[in-house]
Amino acid sequence: VAHCEADENNNTPAEVVGKNPAPEFKWHILWEFVKPQLFALIGAVVLAFGAAILNIQIPLMLGDLVNVVARYLREHTGNYVHEIRGPALKLLGLYGIQGLLTSGYIILLSRVGERVAADMRKTLFTSLLRQDVAFFDANKTGQLVNRLTADIQEFKSSFKLVISQGLRSITQTVGCFVSLYFISPKLTGLTVVVLPCLVGAGALIGSFLRRLSRLAQEQVAKATGVADEALGNVRTVKAFAMEDRERQLYAHEVNKSCEMNENLGAGIAVFQGISNIALNCIVLGTIFAGGTLISNNELSPGDLMSFLVASQTVQRSLASISILFGQMVRGISSGARVFEYLSLEPSIPLSGGGRIPYHSLTGRVDFMNISFSYPTRPGHQVLKRFNLTLPPSKTVAIVGESGGGKSTVASLLERFYDPNSGVIMLDGLDIRTLDLSWLRGQVIGFINQEPVLFGSSIMENIRFGKPEATDAEVINAAKQANAHRFITSFPDGYNTVVGERGVTLSGGQKQRVAIARALIKNPSILVLDEATSALDAESERVVQEALDRATRGRTVLIIAHRLSTIQGADLICVMSNGRVVEAGTHLELLSKGGLYSDLIRRQRAEGQK
Ligand code: ADP
Repeated sequence: VAHCEADENNNTPAEVVGKNPAPEFKWHILWEFVKPQLFALIGAVVLAFGAAILNIQIPLMLGDLVNVVARYLREHTGNYVHEIRGPALKLLGLYGIQGLLTSGYIILLSRVGERVAADMRKTLFTSLLRQDVAFFDANKTGQLVNRLTADIQEFKSSFKLVISQGLRSITQTVGCFVSLYFISPKLTGLTVVVLPCLVGAGALIGSFLRRLSRLAQEQVAKATGVADEALGNVRTVKAFAMEDRERQLYAHEVNKSCEMNENLGAGIAVFQGISNIALNCIVLGTIFAGGTLISNNELSPGDLMSFLVASQTVQRSLASISILFGQMVRGISSGARVFEYLSLEPSIPLSGGGRIPYHSLTGRVDFMNISFSYPTRPGHQVLKRFNLTLPPSKTVAIVGESGGGKSTVASLLERFYDPNSGVIMLDGLDIRTLDLSWLRGQVIGFINQEPVLFGSSIMENIRFGKPEATDAEVINAAKQANAHRFITSFPDGYNTVVGERGVTLSGGQKQRVAIARALIKNPSILVLDEATSALDAESERVVQEALDRATRGRTVLIIAHRLSTIQGADLICVMSNGRVVEAGTHLELLSKGGLYSDLIRRQRAEGQK
């Protein structure tokens, strides 16, 4: 009950977590991740810088080469091969070193990027797991998973790109401009006027295209969402014969995304066309202007060659700087989203605090004057000065209308949340002073009767309750839970994989595996959140038998959504308006003729319908 209702409440703003719409990027956190990789990073930067410097040299040497050729053509003296060998070999060597440096820095940088990203993933996941349940009420799982995947991916690519390309582009732009100036101040003057205008125009059109592309991507995601929902809930779709409507919905969204992507494609095409013309015109213009200078003997053909290549390098570098800038902005905002939850401390710490030795633990629980409202719904008080005692080794059941706060009582005992006021005691000690991982891991067994199993073997699923348990302990727990027989009837026995890619268990079988999972830790206190959906009579009997056995000798709290199974409880409490209004045994409450007998009568009437 708690789950489905909690989902509806996710729209309300979460005050507890202090959600920040635009988290800021914290450089010191990035530094913590980069520090272990510092040597590799410095190595990468040095190599990238070296490659960039060589890239500046290359145009100049190309010019030398052309000058040799031109001289030979003009004078036809000397030995061509002999003359060209020197500069050609030098250039070849330079190409080789440049290639090596490039490979080197890419190898180092991708190592740094991958390790930083992996560390971030692990740290973020650890930090998410540590958070309170209230945090997960306020944040959608999908968005959290997105931070682990898409955001870290984006951050990693930006990080690598900004360092490699950014360093290279800036060095090359500066270096080549200096070369340009030395080759021909006049031509450079011309370039300084024309080039920035073109690059600026290009950047402007580029950002417009990127916006189109983002919109188109969002539309693709929307279409995917429709398909995802329809395929994920295919039974419901089929049961209502809604295939046709879903098809139309999907087709509509796909058509829209098709149209947007076509527009984007057209935009890119025009942009490419225009920029090709512009770039080619620059080459033509340079040769034209350079030719004039050559004819005035102010420039050699080799210088013109150097100038052309160097100015192309500047052009490419400037264009990539403008792209990089956008990438950096995106990287920083993804990084900020990743870092946001890294430093978040849960308000309920998972460990620290006292433990009660096993032999002296009686398992008595007192709820004293508890008032509580969910952090995501501060205005709605669920429990109001609620009092209840669970005596050692007795079974207490809570009944009451749906939404009355029964499951909330169990959540508070598990310390999924802390009450706003009042105290919960275990053996007379405030549970807030006790070690939480001990309390959850060893004292309280929680059996939700609509259980979730993990996609691994039955053995592993039961061992989830006590990771260090031996196989014999697992089998023993399964026997207590009436599960051993059906498990051994599978061909793979305890190694049978359950869940999405394995065997699907029936409702009753799942419940018994869940009971075994809770029993294996031999808890002093057992909380049973009863199933709201009924099992068939035979499964119900087997499960009930397992539960009866499980509850013997333990303090038990049953959250009863139906009344038929709790008539044997030592104490039945009826909740209304966030507190206990009636308490007694089944017979006492019946003879009293109050709320409980009303509930029984109503449920009987519903049963007969
Ligand atoms: P019951 O178990 O008696 O059906 P619950 O304890 O599940 O009732 O719920 C009591 C009230 O608390 C309901 O109004 C429900 O909407 C609300 N509630 C339950 N879980 C949450 C949650 N995680 N966040 C916000 N409100 C919740």
